[in-house]
Amino acid sequence: MAAVDLSPPPATGGFRLLLVEDEPDFSAILAALFVDEGYHVDVAGDGHRGLHLGLTHSYDVIVLDRGLPAIEGLDLMGRWRRHGVTTPVLVLSARGTAADRVAGLDAGAEDYLAKPFDVDELLARLRALRRRHLDAARMLPVGGYRLDLDTREVSAAADHAGAGTEPVRLSERECGLLATLAGRPGQIFSRADLLTGVFTEAESPIVVDTYVHYLRRKLGRGIVDTVRGRGYRLGRNPRR
Ligand code: CA
Repeated sequence: MAAVDLSPPPATGGFRLLLVEDEPDFSAILAALFVDEGYHVDVAGDGHRGLHLGLTHSYDVIVLDRGLPAIEGLDLMGRWRRHGVTTPVLVLSARGTAADRVAGLDAGAEDYLAKPFDVDELLARLRALRRRHLDAARMLPVGGYRLDLDTREVSAAADHAGAGTEPVRLSERECGLLATLAGRPGQIFSRADLLTGVFTEAESPIVVDTYVHYLRRKLGRGIVDTVRGRGYRLGRNPRR
């Protein structure tokens, strides 16, 4: 049983980018640029292909031309979003008025860049998007709470009662234990699983019970459920 990896993600390389652009020459230039930046790039030349790739592959970022044949760019983005695709999207468009930008952002784009644009600015904005996306991935939802894996702070999610109250700071081991349980909600972890993943095998299994006790003291009894004879799992009602 491996613990949730708490080490920082790699800073560069390995990022997957989907480019949806119907102008072949422009698309080839952009794709080469992104490859130079270290992205793995897939290219779709129309809305249908873009829809298919976006729904069947996992990307870190999507660059979407607004004027597309088959399915218009913002319509395409709406379809991804309705299917649960949360990948950040940067929209490229010849339409650059304030109203156009608002329409793009309202449709679910994280960023909007009008053509013609400066290539360095495009690359910088993609880096910023990627960083924000990674930051979001460092926030683990825990039944109405959010656990920040960097600061080890648990705070109430914005849409829950208690939002705005002081965050609760966890120790490194408390954080590791909660992150492991929250990484697979519903799964029952035996003490041996948790000992291997969070603590060290040389320690007594009692240490697991001790840290479950600490978590409950800080966050409430409901944060961890005891499953008699089997172990622990994330509480089904963590805010109880
Ligand atoms: Ca176009």
